[in-house]
Amino acid sequence: MGEGGIVLSIAGFDPTGGAGVLLDTKIFSLFGLKGAGISTTLTLQNTSEFQGWEGVNPEYLKRSLELIFSDLPIKGIKIGMIGTSENAEIIGEFLKRERNKISWVVLDPVLKATLNYDLFSSSDFIKILKSKIFPFVDIVTPNIYEAEVLAEKSIKKKTHLSEIAERLINLGVKAVIIKGWQSSSFIWDFFFDKNKKVFLKKKKLSGNFHGTGCAFSSALLSYLMYGFDPETAFKKAKNWLYLKLKKAEKEKIGGKLWLFL
Ligand code: PLP
Repeated sequence: MGEGGIVLSIAGFDPTGGAGVLLDTKIFSLFGLKGAGISTTLTLQNTSEFQGWEGVNPEYLKRSLELIFSDLPIKGIKIGMIGTSENAEIIGEFLKRERNKISWVVLDPVLKATLNYDLFSSSDFIKILKSKIFPFVDIVTPNIYEAEVLAEKSIKKKTHLSEIAERLINLGVKAVIIKGWQSSSFIWDFFFDKNKKVFLKKKKLSGNFHGTGCAFSSALLSYLMYGFDPETAFKKAKNWLYLKLKKAEKEKIGGKLWLFL
């Protein structure tokens, strides 16, 4: 076991606590880590509807990053919703300068809300994400839709996933986790690095949740901070999330989407 440490979520603010910075910091606490959070966006939503979002002022983001990093010994970063191209540039510049001080950087490349609302502002956002942020990321965790957009290739068969992962690894990340390939009653998640492909197959759950991507990437970072290797952290984080969701299926708290933490 490693020693844990202080981690930072750089993500959107969802006032329900069902996703984004609020959810991420709850998860860090559950894992016994101290969690800081910087909001990139403010979202207007509850568990039944998503009405919109706006990016925080770029100057605010830049100064927050400076203030937090000059003060706290942050050793792990999880990046979630970024939203605007300008703020993606700022995060990229920051990582370029500070990356060597940080043990792990996990990127959940959030592009769409479960309630079907785009969470990025322009087509050059994807270009900036790939060219300015990917090179400083250890593990990127797209779902199927995000993997298709990022790799500019549609996924028709499970066998296409390796090619997609290879394209993303060529952009500078060390490992890729593609989440949510569905077959009739199962859901599959895949881990790829240069040498390995591992999959996890689980029975589909029937609950309607959002924030599962945020939760998985935060749990993944937490396991990495405790010294688990990326493949083990992938399996442990998926199992942890599965148990949380299974429990929350019985509680049914929320409107169209249910909260699980
Ligand atoms: N991050 C924030 C701040 C959000 O508001 C949302 C969705 O509402 C997401 C991420 C996406 O979460 P998920 O894809 O798990 O629904």
